[in-house]
Amino acid sequence: MHTTSQYAVPIAQPEITDEEKRRVIEVLASGRLVAGRWVGEFEERFAAYVGAAHAVATSSGTAALMVAVEAAGIAPGARVITTPFSFGATANALLHRGARPLFVDIDPRTYNLDPDAVAAALDRAPDVRGLLLVHLYGLPCRMDAFEAMANARGLVLLEDAAQAHGAAFRGRRVGAAGAAGIFSLYPTKNLMTGEGGLLVTNDDAVADTARLLVNCRSRTPYIYEILGYNFRMTEMAGALGATQLTHLEARNARRREHARRLTAALADLDWLVVPYEPPGCLHVYHQYTLRVPRVRDRLIEHLNAHGVGNRVYYPVPIHRTPLYMREGYGTARCPEAERAAREVVSIPVHPGLDDAALDRVIRAIRSFVPHRS
Ligand SMILES: *Cc1c(COP(=O)(O)O)cnc(C)c1O
Repeated sequence: MHTTSQYAVPIAQPEITDEEKRRVIEVLASGRLVAGRWVGEFEERFAAYVGAAHAVATSSGTAALMVAVEAAGIAPGARVITTPFSFGATANALLHRGARPLFVDIDPRTYNLDPDAVAAALDRAPDVRGLLLVHLYGLPCRMDAFEAMANARGLVLLEDAAQAHGAAFRGRRVGAAGAAGIFSLYPTKNLMTGEGGLLVTNDDAVADTARLLVNCRSRTPYIYEILGYNFRMTEMAGALGATQLTHLEARNARRREHARRLTAALADLDWLVVPYEPPGCLHVYHQYTLRVPRVRDRLIEHLNAHGVGNRVYYPVPIHRTPLYMREGYGTARCPEAERAAREVVSIPVHPGLDDAALDRVIRAIRSFVPHRS
């Protein structure tokens, strides 16, 4: 992550208000650095925000994913359908459990798992136990289709909403549709605590198991019932997160406004494709991602030269990385994910952008000459 960026307009920029700083200093001054009031308060407020019965705070999104897979009852050896076009932590959480990801291709317009491809994969692999969705870039998956499939086949439905705090499908915020959902609180995410994560669920038993896994202290001190970890959140992170949450809606609205302006200024260019927001989906633009066939890498050089931050999320689909090749996934065929990895680039959309920064991004892209004569 670039904290001191070489770019005039960075791709990400954590927003921390004076109130947020004050809250963290208050925690430090109190001397109560763990197991105080803030983590519990943050959990309650976040659960209410996404419409879940429970939220369990963790030390990272990756930790929340590992706990979600285990608490939801995915057993070693179980096969779980997921997307190859995500951050590696998504599929890694399955490998950590000894479960086996089954990579299915994405919809080239949304970059999320393609419901038709998932339905076809389920017909071919009736032993599949679960579905691990990713709401990539802040765009919700087609939840109507995936919930129907999960219900019809008794699948464990999990959501990686690490990039999608506040995103909604048909008015319902993502994260709490299935057995468990997770969020990351990494500094670049829409809601952040430095490092941190949240697991949300409506299932009392999943919440209970998740708490025992996150905090190996167990119900009765030193009487262990379950093989737990220490994935706890600190009070400093809890205070920062609870205070950040009061700004989330306004910051998401600014991301959406920036995305609207970028799309209005770029949609006429015939050499790129702007993001697609399907009907019924509220996109929270964790990333604003262009598809640039053929000339993506030249555009990146041009953006670098013009001080415009940019990043490819993700340059290699998970099944083509060395780890997954060694795990035997090299022959998986996901042509749309592979094409997206060659063609996408994300540009600044974060709430810290002002008019001058947005204009600079737009001018840089419009001044690019895609066809060499
Ligand atoms: C950020 C991210 C994670 C991991 O979260 P951390 O807090 O960095 O551990 C998992 N999945 C996706 C899709 C992410 O973007």
